Amino acid sequence: MSAATRSTSRGARSRRAPDRLCAEAVELARAAAEEAAAPGTAGAWLEAVPDPHADRVVTHFFEAQEPGYRGWRWAVTVARASRAKNVTVDESVLVPGPDALLAPEWVPWSERLRPGDLGPGDLLPTDADDLRLEPGYSGADAPPPDSAVAEEQPEARGHSRAAVGAVAEELGMGRPRVLSRYGLHAAADRWEESHGPKTPMAQAAPASCMSCGFLVPLAGSLRQAFGVCSNEYSPADGHVVSLGFGCGGHSEAAVMPKAPQPPPPVIDETVADPFGD
Ligand code: SF4
Repeated sequence: MSAATRSTSRGARSRRAPDRLCAEAVELARAAAEEAAAPGTAGAWLEAVPDPHADRVVTHFFEAQEPGYRGWRWAVTVARASRAKNVTVDESVLVPGPDALLAPEWVPWSERLRPGDLGPGDLLPTDADDLRLEPGYSGADAPPPDSAVAEEQPEARGHSRAAVGAVAEELGMGRPRVLSRYGLHAAADRWEESHGPKTPMAQAAPASCMSCGFLVPLAGSLRQAFGVCSNEYSPADGHVVSLGFGCGGHSEAAVMPKAPQPPPPVIDETVADPFGD
């Protein structure tokens, strides 16, 4: 009994026995592995596994000793026709073994992206159904002027649409999409975390941003909780800060005392100054 047959017979209880001639074709399979592998890197024979779906088809596994392929194996599949004694090679392929060193699972770029990854010139597409955004007013929802549901005359309707569009543009409402409630809450949570009252900087601050003269208020609902710091000496300069945030640059934290003004010079005109020698 050949080495291949002995080895494969160990697993014969759980799977059917390999075809004898195919299992004995170790040298044929080795030659195929050596032909496919880099010179000298097809290692020891490991096992022969019968194909579970086909008779007279067996795969021989050999250690792959290529650098960087720890635990990988050369798999050479051999087969023979019914009633034929001649065994031939089907294919040779490098496959990972049970302990193979594998590359980490591929992650799409959209899940790999992190804040700060975007560089000059990069484009970051947003999904059509991005939860952070919702449709804004663009006038696209209004029925066209000549439609059956238009209440005004086509001409008047066209004018009023243009007027509404102009006002919406003026008010900043002419964007196809605007921040959704989810997007707004997500942004508020991030800002609260980076520049909120629980940060070490805020905990050590003499007073909060709410009473600081450098705080520029925001518009909209975020105004109730956030503003922008405009103190160039503060680490939060240019950032959105929570009203509960604070830093040592607070405008009223340490108002510098004015330098004492020297009294005006007094000219004593009642005495004559002696001239020197
Ligand atoms: S200077 Fe400090 S306290 Fe004032 S707004 Fe900026 S971060 Fe807040």
